[in-house]
Amino acid sequence: MFGKLKEKLSSFVDKVAQTEISEKDVENALWDLELELLEADVALEVVDELKEKIKQKLVGQKVKIGTNKREIVEKAVKEAVLEVLTHERHIDLLEMIKSKKEKPFVIVFVGFNGSGKTTTIAKLANWLKKNGLSVVIAASDTFRAGAIEQVEEHAKRVGVKLIKHGYKSDPAAVAYDAIEHAKARGIDVVLVDTAGRNELNRNLMDEMKKIVRVTKPDLVIFVGDALAGNAIIEQARQFNEAVRIDGVILTKLDADARGGAALSIAHAIGAPILFVGVGQGYDDLMPFDEKWMLEKIFG
Ligand code: GDP
Repeated sequence: MFGKLKEKLSSFVDKVAQTEISEKDVENALWDLELELLEADVALEVVDELKEKIKQKLVGQKVKIGTNKREIVEKAVKEAVLEVLTHERHIDLLEMIKSKKEKPFVIVFVGFNGSGKTTTIAKLANWLKKNGLSVVIAASDTFRAGAIEQVEEHAKRVGVKLIKHGYKSDPAAVAYDAIEHAKARGIDVVLVDTAGRNELNRNLMDEMKKIVRVTKPDLVIFVGDALAGNAIIEQARQFNEAVRIDGVILTKLDADARGGAALSIAHAIGAPILFVGVGQGYDDLMPFDEKWMLEKIFG
């Protein structure tokens, strides 16, 4: 996981540790690091931010004779990465759900086809159930052939009720029904699956906006595939323009050899990562923890 990021950051640490850690030494090494981070799919603005932070932390450091320079440089780089990973807004989902006065808590999921959206909804349903909450899923992807059967199969496997209409029916109406169903039965959470498509067109944007208008969700979550690297930032921005994204779930981190998307996304779109997908099983969903990610990069 994140092998590329790990390799690039660690070679930067080694390089600077061999110098006097002067402004010039740091600048030179940062110049190389910039290209390498871009190659690892870190977004440009995040690269700039990281460079600035590392520079501030390192330049002007008085290195006493006998101190371990590598440790000093590594500490500065780790701190800079942690700062970039830490979002000012932290969402504690369980806390948020439990503190909502009127049930249900509604989450709308958006994302491109193949990003892992449907699997993630099932994983989250499973996680919420394990945390003592009742869940219903709305099959609001009425567009893609097979989508309803797919989400139905997942719902069955994790033991959650699915509300569905037929294909080509109004996705907002399906979501509305799911909310009514939840209200009538005191169900805690409604998870709304939506159509992904392969590109964001006007129709899809209008459909998203309607779903959001009708359901008034407590959260809109963008599900992004970490393997898409830098491209997911652009995807997330497009969705963010159509419907404001409150949080991100990043999937397939287990297969992500680069790490750039994970490092960049929260920073780039201004919404925190809530969970990460780390496998294909229903239990392979973890609440996101910056320290865990830092450990994976440097550990
Ligand atoms: P959707 O089109 O966005 O609904 O995508 P799906 O939920 O159908 O997922 C697409 C593929 O990605 C499936 O084969 C999933 O098993 C796989 N997938 C989803 N999340 C993860 C993950 O965290 N790790 C791995 N390795 N595969 C995942």
